[in-house]
Amino acid sequence: LSPAVTAETSPRGGLVRTVSSLPRIIGADAVVPLNDGGSTTYANFDYAASAPCLEAVHEAVTRALPYYSSVHRGAGYASQVTTAAYEKARETVRGFLGAERRASVVFTRNTTDAMNLLAHAVPAGTTVVVFETEHHATLLPWKRAVRLPAPASPVEAIAAAGRALAAAPAGPRLLVVTAASNVTGELWPIRELAEVARRHGARIAVDAAQHVPHRPLDMTELGLDYVAFSGHKLYAPFGAGVLAGRADWLRAAPPYLKGGGASAAVTEGGDATRWQADPEARHEAGTPNVLGVIALAAACETLAATGWDALVAHEERLLDRLRTGLAHISGVRELTLWGDRNPRVGIVSFVVDGWNARDVALTLSGEYGIGVRDGKFCAHPFVRHLLEEGGAGCADGQGSAVRASFGIGSDERDVDRLLAALTRLTG
Ligand code: PLP
Repeated sequence: LSPAVTAETSPRGGLVRTVSSLPRIIGADAVVPLNDGGSTTYANFDYAASAPCLEAVHEAVTRALPYYSSVHRGAGYASQVTTAAYEKARETVRGFLGAERRASVVFTRNTTDAMNLLAHAVPAGTTVVVFETEHHATLLPWKRAVRLPAPASPVEAIAAAGRALAAAPAGPRLLVVTAASNVTGELWPIRELAEVARRHGARIAVDAAQHVPHRPLDMTELGLDYVAFSGHKLYAPFGAGVLAGRADWLRAAPPYLKGGGASAAVTEGGDATRWQADPEARHEAGTPNVLGVIALAAACETLAATGWDALVAHEERLLDRLRTGLAHISGVRELTLWGDRNPRVGIVSFVVDGWNARDVALTLSGEYGIGVRDGKFCAHPFVRHLLEEGGAGCADGQGSAVRASFGIGSDERDVDRLLAALTRLTG
């Protein structure tokens, strides 16, 4: 791990204060070209799409590479070392999420894959309740879903979920909700939603893709049945994600992918007579993304070792600076579902009067070296709702918005650059 904690000493040499410093990311001083032929350092405001990689993650992958080998069925030394690292990563993720010993931790490709795995595993006849505000990865995979409109407040979200679950026909019930919105950054009341689910005999699955890079999440303490997230939003490279949660549905479902590793016995004719009982083996057929998983676990370790207080304080400082600055630029309007007081992570979406979002994003990139995202952020119903609620003056004609998202590698200078660029744009 990169050094996350530094200590200050008193004149007599005693330890007086511990100061947490943030881990380093790769690419913090990357240089990008500008339209005028010049160049500048990159101000990355696209963390919510994929966060830059941590140096500690790079180091963990570099350490693993000499033992690069396939996991689980190899007797060779490298295979044993790699298998141990892969399974240790599972335990790291278990600890990171506060998952119970008996819970499954299945490695997937990403959050989308994790949600589709869960949709595959829910028993026939399950009523799924989901808000229309979700990212498509969490909105779309369900066969039989009750879709709830955007709630006017967190209290209304809890009440609406309760009503829908109470009205669900007999049989299994699952409430699916995102912990932190990828559009507005707003945090959802997942503890209370978990209580409501429990009260109505339902389970709760949480899309934590935008939560775990920014806030701690202890699924046992919160009473969550399933949690999904992606490594590439958590300062690791692409290609590895997680579905953690109760084992029974996963154990009973047919393998998500059929192939090597999932089958316990296959006849000479080529039929599987028995699938692995262990949910991890059952749903991780084929050669897994071992390096991606090692990277993801290294990111979990690094964030935990850094300490959430330091991470959250850094983010809150930047968030406050950015939101206050945006509020002072006339013509810029932030999108929010529940207003200013609801807590949020480092994701801010906005529209600029008289500009369409794509032009704002291209101008920020080409003229200022600032990377933001524009569009509907794979949450079409939610962005449509926010723009309509914001009034006609808020829409850009294409139904799109600009999103600035940040994290560990961001600093005040980045925020000030973005604010200055937007001030010029609108001036
Ligand atoms: N859920 C949320 C809240 C997201 O922000 C995203 C990605 O933007 C996803 C799910 C899907 O993640 P992935 O593309 O890694 O599957």
